[in-house]
Amino acid sequence: MQKFVTDALVLKTKVTGESDLIVFLLTEKKGIVRAFAKGARSMKSKLHAATSLFSYASYGLYEKNDVYHVSDADLKESFFDLRTDLSRLSLGQYFCEVILKTVTEETDESTFYQLMLRSVYYLNQGKKDLLLLKSVFELRLAVIAGYAPPVHACAVCGTFLTDKMYFDCESGELFCADCGDAHALPEIPSAVVSAMRHIVYASFDQLFAFTLSGQSLEILNRLTQIYLQNCMQMKFSVLDYFWTSYR
Ligand SMILES: [Zn+2]
Repeated sequence: MQKFVTDALVLKTKVTGESDLIVFLLTEKKGIVRAFAKGARSMKSKLHAATSLFSYASYGLYEKNDVYHVSDADLKESFFDLRTDLSRLSLGQYFCEVILKTVTEETDESTFYQLMLRSVYYLNQGKKDLLLLKSVFELRLAVIAGYAPPVHACAVCGTFLTDKMYFDCESGELFCADCGDAHALPEIPSAVVSAMRHIVYASFDQLFAFTLSGQSLEILNRLTQIYLQNCMQMKFSVLDYFWTSYR
């Protein structure tokens, strides 16, 4: 019986039996761990508070017959506030779904975990624009998953920046005003180019430390959403709830 303790965030829960739960935990070093939480649905259970969606806790886990079980849990943060608003909640659920589709049990990469925790933290805090959080999550996740778009310069002539540029949501390539015209691509202002570069290249500590608003933020949002969908070759229906509640 292998025992270990890990910090993790609950991405999904599934009801099983009378009062039990299966929790999908995003752990720091073991990717996603699916664990059985006996009696967790009971209000009296010591596991109850730490086995809700978005709960962040230190979990004691053990493996028995190839199944993980939660033996105890020490809640660190419930991220309660993000549940009080439908836009924030559905955006958080979207983050969870994307992570569930990207990270596997064998992923020993802690960067997904770091991106997710930071995104949920800001979502819960409620001070940053939701579209900004969404774009940062989408584009940086694509980078971590191995689809970093080459946005450092024009893909044809190497020009760093022109007033307007063009972005190819299929290849992730950027084109300057001269080279992009012929490609029938969406035009993007230089502020959006700078924001994309920031999201792709900034350190985690600086990742959310920039501002973009109005039409530029909407353009960025459209591009990052389509780019991530193209990279992952899938759409996420939970986004429909987000857009319905956001508008
Ligand atoms: Zn060019």
